[in-house]
Amino acid sequence: MLLTTKQLFDKCYGRYAIPAVNVFFMEEIHGLFAAAQETNTPIIVQTTPFARDYAHPDMLLSMIQSAARIYPNVVYAIHMDHGYEAHIYDALEKGGYTSVMIDASHDSFEQNVLRTKQVVDKAHEKGISVEAELGVLAGVEDDLTVEAAHSFYTNPQEVEDFVRATHCDSLAIAVGTSHGAYKFSGGQGLQLHILQEIQSRLPGFPLVLHGGSNVSSEVVERINRAGGKIKTDAKGVQEDEIQKAIPLGICKINIATDTRLLWTMVNREFFRDKPDEFAPTSPGKIFMEEYKQFMIQKFNLFGCTGKSIEFRNPGA
Ligand SMILES: [Zn+2]
Repeated sequence: MLLTTKQLFDKCYGRYAIPAVNVFFMEEIHGLFAAAQETNTPIIVQTTPFARDYAHPDMLLSMIQSAARIYPNVVYAIHMDHGYEAHIYDALEKGGYTSVMIDASHDSFEQNVLRTKQVVDKAHEKGISVEAELGVLAGVEDDLTVEAAHSFYTNPQEVEDFVRATHCDSLAIAVGTSHGAYKFSGGQGLQLHILQEIQSRLPGFPLVLHGGSNVSSEVVERINRAGGKIKTDAKGVQEDEIQKAIPLGICKINIATDTRLLWTMVNREFFRDKPDEFAPTSPGKIFMEEYKQFMIQKFNLFGCTGKSIEFRNPGA
């Protein structure tokens, strides 16, 4: 059941969050949909420009659409993560996506409003939801690196003005997370008071947490024992912070780093333990199963396990 992100957020606001998972290749898409089907959990599948360049936009979208046929009970949205106008208008024309993100957060406030409003007007004509971003996250997102010194927290007053001016459906905010594996080098944690103030200004308005990976120290240690050199001070969002953020309006939590670390762990351990093997399908099978189990854990953490019923059977 393909929905927009707005339809998902209308139901989950304040109660649970939905994982928005960046996918790049087939094994991830299988693992994600298998987890969603097995546990009746709604998901957001999302693609970055980098992912579309890697696989080809048609290949990536076709794989997601195939997965939706293979796992027919899954309630899902297809979202374009960190889009720019060229990608977004191309997707609006060709169809397939039910939600897009316009990331003009590196522009001035006025320019961000202008660019976001233009995308909102065009997307809403087609019934497609729009996520925008206000504030700048530090870290590495595909090919874009932002130094911590150039990142800043989202200002709640600006959020109110921005949402009223653009009519965007959800907003990614900078409240202490970063993109990539090295999230909290300063150890500052999530700025929950900012979420609280946004909620009091805009009750019921859905917020999005980018850089929502946990960066498990156990996974990092296993990678390093199998020959990796990931810095062990890498630290992500702690589970109790996620659980405090959801009642404050975080509806969508982006996950990319954790799944990359999982892929690295599975493959490094596989080839360390089986140096005579060379078939990509052998570690691929292990990865799909590990990915599925990892997603089921995330669903439980975000409180969305089993919630597909609310969308398929709204009267229940
Ligand atoms: Zn992001």
